[in-house]
Amino acid sequence: MPNPLALIAEITHRCPLHCVYCSNPLELTSRNEELATADWLRIFAEAAALGVLHLHLTGGEPLARPDLAEMIEGARQSRLYTNLITSGVGLSRERLAQFVEAGLDHIQLSFQDSSGGPANWIAGARAHAHKLELAAWIREHQIREQQTGERRIAFTVNLVVHRQNIDHLEEMIAALEALHPDRMEIAHAQYYGWALQNRSALLPTRAQLDRAVAVVAAAEERLRGKVRIDMVVPDYHARFPKACMGGWGRQLLLIDPAGRALPCHAAGVIPGMFFDNVRDHPLAWIWQNSAAFQKFRGEAWMPEPCRSCERRQEDFGGCRCQAFLLTGDASATDPVCELAPLHHLIEDAVREHATAGPVPAAREASFHALQENTAGFWSYRTDPK
Ligand code: SF4
Ligand code: SF4
Repeated sequence: MPNPLALIAEITHRCPLHCVYCSNPLELTSRNEELATADWLRIFAEAAALGVLHLHLTGGEPLARPDLAEMIEGARQSRLYTNLITSGVGLSRERLAQFVEAGLDHIQLSFQDSSGGPANWIAGARAHAHKLELAAWIREHQIREQQTGERRIAFTVNLVVHRQNIDHLEEMIAALEALHPDRMEIAHAQYYGWALQNRSALLPTRAQLDRAVAVVAAAEERLRGKVRIDMVVPDYHARFPKACMGGWGRQLLLIDPAGRALPCHAAGVIPGMFFDNVRDHPLAWIWQNSAAFQKFRGEAWMPEPCRSCERRQEDFGGCRCQAFLLTGDASATDPVCELAPLHHLIEDAVREHATAGPVPAAREASFHALQENTAGFWSYRTDPK
């Protein structure tokens, strides 16, 4: 069995933002259930011993943990390449310097739109202005590190795209370019958790998507050699599903804030699954023996048409969580696939939801006006106790 390559550490579900597309589960882990610092440091050491190379510190908002610098230091001691995935809210200039000192290798900062009004409306919080400030501090570190020849922190900006902001993509890319990132990740919303709940407001039309693909292609051409652009397409408009997590239990494992080990962030929605806890078992045992990781590993579980499909080693039959969320059967072929017996569920959703345009005048309006005018339009992600 191959080693996992990356560990996704959801160190908390707490977050000061309320993004309407948040992929966190609807039932969030509360603060008093969270693993302690010592547990996480042990997990990082076990992960490194298991062959993991990359650690993604995420949440919720990982900055909500006051012991984050200690965790980064522990990850460095375990020789993991450490990436902090953050909204930036809660990160001061001093704390950023602490993280860099502790050995942070990479920071991924999320943005919701190109200007404050719509960005804050999507996040349900006033966060945009601080993100711009933080990006400038990251840049200062990079310049200093370049001048002194020190190890340089890498910087990715992330933008989740959906019907309400996709038409601003050109402005957004220009605004992000001005922040001097090494990489831009333009990720279409994936319909799990809060995004599935808000799908009717988020699913883009085909025409919006086609324009966005052209905008990204032009930006890639213009920024070649300067900024790498990675785009995650919305699978509802694709012919075939994504190879979710590089295949179930093949490359990645995720530990949730309470210590449960999952093959992906959404697997908790599948009923009847039991996820072993790092409080009870070493990580290597979980990776090799846990029933949850075995469940959809390999091809034995596959129904037709996947079982005899020549693409099965490319997409592994798509996403098990999406199959369950849309069909009620986690073993079904992902309905995104045009060959799936239940593909009509995707076509129906696209026909039903992806025909309307965005909220009119959202680009110019203030956060306050947008919230007032769109009450009940979507559900904001809540915060755990
Ligand atoms: S609410 Fe937004 S910032 Fe917070 S965890 Fe969810 S997507 Fe990330
Ligand atoms: S039938 Fe299954 S393996 Fe083939 S493309 Fe569709 S989801 Fe992938």
